[in-house]
Amino acid sequence: MPPETVEWNGDAQGSLIGGQDVAALPAVREAPRVSSDFMALANAVLCHRDPQRHALLYRLLWRMGQGERGLLDHATDADVHRAEVLAKSVRRDTHKMKAFVRFREVPGETEAFVAWFEPEHYIVDRVAPFFARRFAGMRWAILTPYRSAHWDGHALAFGPGGVRADAPEDDARESLWRTYYANIFNPARLNPTMMRSEMPQKYWKHLPETQLLPELIQNAGARVREMAERAPELPRRRIPEAPAEPVLTADDSLDAVRAAAAACRRCELWQPATRTVFGEGPDDARVVLMGEQPGDEEDLSGRPFVGPAGKLLDRVLAELGIDRRTLYLTNAVKHFRFEQRGKRRLHRNPTSTQVQACRPWLQQELARIDPQLIVCLGANAARTVLGGDFQLMAQRGQWRVMAEGARALATLHPSWVLRQPEGEARQAALALFKNDLALLAAALPQ
Ligand code: SF4
Repeated sequence: MPPETVEWNGDAQGSLIGGQDVAALPAVREAPRVSSDFMALANAVLCHRDPQRHALLYRLLWRMGQGERGLLDHATDADVHRAEVLAKSVRRDTHKMKAFVRFREVPGETEAFVAWFEPEHYIVDRVAPFFARRFAGMRWAILTPYRSAHWDGHALAFGPGGVRADAPEDDARESLWRTYYANIFNPARLNPTMMRSEMPQKYWKHLPETQLLPELIQNAGARVREMAERAPELPRRRIPEAPAEPVLTADDSLDAVRAAAAACRRCELWQPATRTVFGEGPDDARVVLMGEQPGDEEDLSGRPFVGPAGKLLDRVLAELGIDRRTLYLTNAVKHFRFEQRGKRRLHRNPTSTQVQACRPWLQQELARIDPQLIVCLGANAARTVLGGDFQLMAQRGQWRVMAEGARALATLHPSWVLRQPEGEARQAALALFKNDLALLAAALPQ
């Protein structure tokens, strides 16, 4: 029947078809197909108190049956818009009921609770399953003026409405709850407008804490002033205080320098790294081998050149007849700089600021060892010793005399050799590396 021929009696509507047997009705056209979106919308709209809700839904259904298939997509259509407004209001009321129902224990009964609530719409049937899931282990009833819901621990049942006096006024838990609420109430964050929007005043009568609100709000200003006047409490430091770095003199040993460097905080690299990786070897070594910075394995073990690059270096030194134990091995920067990618820590070059910050440690090492020969592994190490404009590939493999009288030579870093593609390229890099270190072997006394 076209909607304009149907008269709806709103809440007086006992049944849609007046108790008639559907099968006995005059033959209807094929029932219109509707989307699940319409069913969800209709479910919400039917809970609204608007007496015109049935007429509205019937009109929508009729129009869809007449061929307006995408009707719900037209948000500006007057019927669609009205249905959305009603559904939104029901959803909001549903949300508030879930949030603001407060159960009170029934005196003289064990684990039995009753709540009084005054919803705006007919939502008890809609919301009751939520409470059945949440409070499955207790017996409860929710009373409203038009309908009640009961849960006995197994099944939901619905009955007629009640009056407020049917539910207990208060129970022992409520005074506990009020005490807790008064303690967590933060006057500095009070925003009455937001509070009223989130917790509309019509629901206040259901909430024990709202009895405290007028006083809490009234005193909020004074409490905020008192908090502001109170001496600030310093936040607890989460990073332990750095041990004071000892002041070193020229007479202090290499071990004393090593101990001081272990507490270094001169740049930020100490924070993510595990430990300072100081140089290692005899403190009267004739040769210092210097890389750029420790890698992942060095950071974990605390020793320089123990990872894959260190193993390649060891192999080449052994092939050239150089005993690693006679060398002092160190790095220009003493902490590992990396980028965390998942579980992996990927090497990152230190910045020039970090190299500068760390330079005093290298100077202290060189001052105490006083080497005759320094071999720089890689461009960054070479620039630290031989000057910022040093060009590794063009100037490597040549001894240079330093101001202090020692001679310095630069070559490739073994990790760079390992990064070359396997095969010809890596063999070529390895040959250059070995040739350069052969110059060191030649410079050593036989
Ligand atoms: S990298 Fe060097 S300067 Fe920076 S914290 Fe470590 S030891 Fe100190």
